[in-house]
Amino acid sequence: MLDTTRLRSLGDELLAFALGASCAGCDRGGTVLCTSCRRMMRPKPFVVRTPGGLPVEAALPFTGVAARCIRRLKGEGETLLARPLGEALSGVLATEAVSAALIVPVPTSRAAHRRRGYRVPDLLVRRAGFRPQRLLRTIAQRSDQRGLGIQDRAANVFESMHATRRGSERVIVLDDVITTGATLDEAARALRVAGYDVLCGMALAATPRHRGLIGDSSATRRI
Ligand SMILES: [Zn+2]
Repeated sequence: MLDTTRLRSLGDELLAFALGASCAGCDRGGTVLCTSCRRMMRPKPFVVRTPGGLPVEAALPFTGVAARCIRRLKGEGETLLARPLGEALSGVLATEAVSAALIVPVPTSRAAHRRRGYRVPDLLVRRAGFRPQRLLRTIAQRSDQRGLGIQDRAANVFESMHATRRGSERVIVLDDVITTGATLDEAARALRVAGYDVLCGMALAATPRHRGLIGDSSATRRI
């Protein structure tokens, strides 16, 4: 018997077919993500550190099929991809540490939310089967992070967030793609100031560090 998740995913595929979708990974027609590209989305968790020293577990490297899917979700509004991407994210979220903590996505700017109609990190957390806690808000207008190096990114986001309420719970900060880690450092700072115990960061994908200071600039969230 089909369970609800499989039924939903079957519904997504039917919709994709009806909409004339093509695979985000390889452009094959009639599906948002074909079986072989879906296989490439199996989580391969690894840990990176932010400049502030926060360990961040990422489900996938930001390369290949994963990178193409994320770009399509973020840049082209292909929300059907949130389900397979959320499944990959659940590979790092489904741990004991996470079950004892609140999952706090980094906040998206009003402009980005207006443009897309959804918040990418929150949507991914929900599709992973968890409840995002919107405890952070942006308070400062930031410049576009793309094209900035590590130092400039950190300076650009410093004190750009604040917690919507004080608390002492354990929290995990979450972003869709981690590039330099400056955004997650700022999220952790804002939560600590408000009393929270920040355990670690988590991300759907991380850019490989050897690619330089900025990594692939298209990985950056558009604020
Ligand atoms: Zn494919």
